Amino acid sequence: MEDIKETFYHTVAPLDFGYNYRVGTYLQRYIDALKDKKILGAKCPQCGKVVVPPRKYCGACNKVREEYVELSQEGTLENYTVGHITLEKGQVNQAESPYIVGMIKLGGADNLLVGKVAGVSPQEVKTGMRLKAVWKDQTEGEYSDLDHFEPV
Ligand SMILES: [Zn+2]
Repeated sequence: MEDIKETFYHTVAPLDFGYNYRVGTYLQRYIDALKDKKILGAKCPQCGKVVVPPRKYCGACNKVREEYVELSQEGTLENYTVGHITLEKGQVNQAESPYIVGMIKLGGADNLLVGKVAGVSPQEVKTGMRLKAVWKDQTEGEYSDLDHFEPV
């Protein structure tokens, strides 16, 4: 019997094709605001909850969110994971060094934003830490303009 784990790690069938994904009005507005170093959420007209990144429908009320609100650049680390591998085009590789992916509750938001966390080691990171957004020097209206979060 073949070892499934061995197969997973060593057999790679490259399917290198590109496709375009239209992000839609709500995510486009979020990305456009990143160029100005602003983080936008969308507010539900019924329950008032704000989600980031903005999404059209409130999952609880099924109402269309119509209002965009600017969120704080700071938040609390609610949860995180430390990554040791990268996955690129189906290829699993060892990361150059362990990295932290955090779930951050920004001021003014009711859900958690996933983002890279830097400026703190995987040994020292802990939930409850206050973090702030760190931007690329030159923003271009790309999802990656918001580069990472680091301790305040
Ligand atoms: Zn709602």
